[in-house]
Amino acid sequence: MVDDAEWSRVWAAYGSGGPRGLLDEYERMTGFRETDLYAVLHHRIDLYGPPCPRCETVLRTPVAYKCFECGHVLRTGNDSGGRKGLASSVVNRPAGE
Ligand SMILES: [Zn+2]
Repeated sequence: MVDDAEWSRVWAAYGSGGPRGLLDEYERMTGFRETDLYAVLHHRIDLYGPPCPRCETVLRTPVAYKCFECGHVLRTGNDSGGRKGLASSVVNRPAGE
């Protein structure tokens, strides 16, 4: 996992050295030689959520409603962040549209 500051360095390396530059910089920072560019792209920490309050596994997304490791529910489906607006616009749509 790389944080925002580390990501800036990795992304700058991509700009100057392409995929090879990115992978080289990632290795310098982490000590791990990743060969898959897309794996590094997925190691950006802000793509994930905070740690689960029960098991401390990192949640899959910042808006996760449930921990898929231990099953801990953080909020109900009625309080699922971005989907709330979508649901209300569907409910409020006049009949016949
Ligand atoms: Zn958990």
